[in-house]
Amino acid sequence: MANEGILTHCEDCKVGLERRTILHQQMVEGELFEIDGVPALVCPRCEATWIEQEAREVIEQILSANRPGGTQ
Ligand SMILES: [Zn+2]
Repeated sequence: MANEGILTHCEDCKVGLERRTILHQQMVEGELFEIDGVPALVCPRCEATWIEQEAREVIEQILSANRPGGTQ
């Protein structure tokens, strides 16, 4: 249904995920970008994080706007 593909529990730990905001770090063209306040689902046991598609798209937009050499 509408929630298809969205994880609600950790597949390893079989526990429910917590909705938190995290500091997301990503390497782009050799530079480390940090984006704070990214909404994610976090496993309270193993600390694994999942970023939902919606937040992923926002991250992509931020990264492409800050891409080195892409400021004209
Ligand atoms: Zn887990």
